[in-house]
This record gives sequence, C-alpha cells and structure tokens, in this order.
Amino acid sequence: MNRQAVKAWLLDLLYPNRCGCCGAFIPWNGLLCPDCAASLTPAALCSHCGKMPCTGEDKLPYSRVYAAYAYKDRARDGILSLKRGNNLNFAVHLGRMLGERIPAAAYDCIVPVPMSGRRIRERGYNQAERIGAAIGASIGLPVRQDCLIQRQSDIRQHDLGARERREHAKLYEASGHKLEGMRILLCDDVLTTGSTAQRCAALLRQMGAADVALAVGCSVVGKTHTEHDRSNQAKEK
Ligand SMILES: [Zn+2]
Ligand SMILES: [Zn+2]
Repeated sequence: MNRQAVKAWLLDLLYPNRCGCCGAFIPWNGLLCPDCAASLTPAALCSHCGKMPCTGEDKLPYSRVYAAYAYKDRARDGILSLKRGNNLNFAVHLGRMLGERIPAAAYDCIVPVPMSGRRIRERGYNQAERIGAAIGASIGLPVRQDCLIQRQSDIRQHDLGARERREHAKLYEASGHKLEGMRILLCDDVLTTGSTAQRCAALLRQMGAADVALAVGCSVVGKTHTEHDRSNQAKEK
C-alpha cells in the first residue's frame, strides 16, 4: 500500500465508506455495493435529445447527448444521495461510465451547469461540477467554471413545472468570456425538461462555441414531468 492508500484505509476506519446509491457499507476503495452495481443498467436513451422514447425535437442547441442512466431506481437513489451532499461516490461512478463513451479528442473542455454561490455553500459542492470533474479525470479534459453563472434564487428547481423551469433557466447567464471555436461538453446531473441544458448550451454558442454536446448522469424518462415533480415533493416531506 502506498501512502495515499494507507491514508484512505485509515480514514475508512473513522468514516466507513458507503455505497453511492443505497448507503450500505462497502470496502474503502469501492464506489457502489455489489447489489447496486449489478442493478444499474445503462438505458437506451436517444443520443440526440437524451430521452426515451425520442422527443423528435430538432432545434436543440446541443449537437448530441451522452446520458448514463434513466432517472429511476438505484440511479435515482445515487443522484438523491449526491444532492443531499453526503456521498460523492455516485459522481465518480458516473464520471467513469460517461468517460468510457465520450471521445476526448472531440472536445476541448467540460463546462458544468453552474450553481449559485449560496447553494454551493449550503451543500458544500455543485454536483454537476463533481460529475464534470470525474469525467475530466477519466478522459483527461479540463473543467472550466468561468464560462457560466447562476444568479441567486430562493426557488428550488425540482419544485417547478415545465413553464416555470423555462423562466427559472433565465437565471443562467454568460460570463462574457470568448469561446471562439471551442468544442464544449456541457455537464449536468439530471436532464429533466431540458430547459436548463438548452439555456446553458445556447449561452455557450452565443459566446462563440463551435460545438456544444451535453453529458448528463441521468435522464428523466417514462413519466410525465408532473408525476416526477409530485414524487420528488413526496420524497422531500
Ligand atoms: Zn448499494
Ligand atoms: Zn431524440
């Protein structure tokens, strides 16, 4: 064991490692328990819109979508665990999964969907940035957090319906940097209505990006948006 591994092993005695999805205790060097690892199956999501079935939308500001899982079952548990701010293992797992499919040579950098400063202070991190960093580590792309800004808001996005989400997406703004000719991989944790990703992709194009593709951990499928909101609210209570 090298020094780093000894440190991780010792830390594990104090803070035992847990599965990124269900929270079960796992070995210090693992990310998921065997049960969750076996039941996470990649979904056949459309590479154009990121949905299943395809929405048929043809005017999307991103050229393609890389999505690891449908937002349900263990994958959904993993995202919720990330959002609660207590376990980053699922972000690392998603980074590796997505990294296997994304051709590094096709992009210049990764831009995570930003989070307002106050929300980051509450949670300790921006989960989109953590997933982006994990993709970057697996395929060797830099992460840029200086391209987009999220203005502060008291509204939690998962409480919103589709129309309100489009309004809420206006809180995302361009930083003003020039991105002339850059090929960008925009990254977020969950693709819901797509209003956030579309707004951010459109801003990156306005800043000069030659190509914007989207990488998301999970995509909401098989349920109407309202049902998704309702079950989320039930879970919060
Ligand atoms: Zn598990
Ligand atoms: Zn599609």
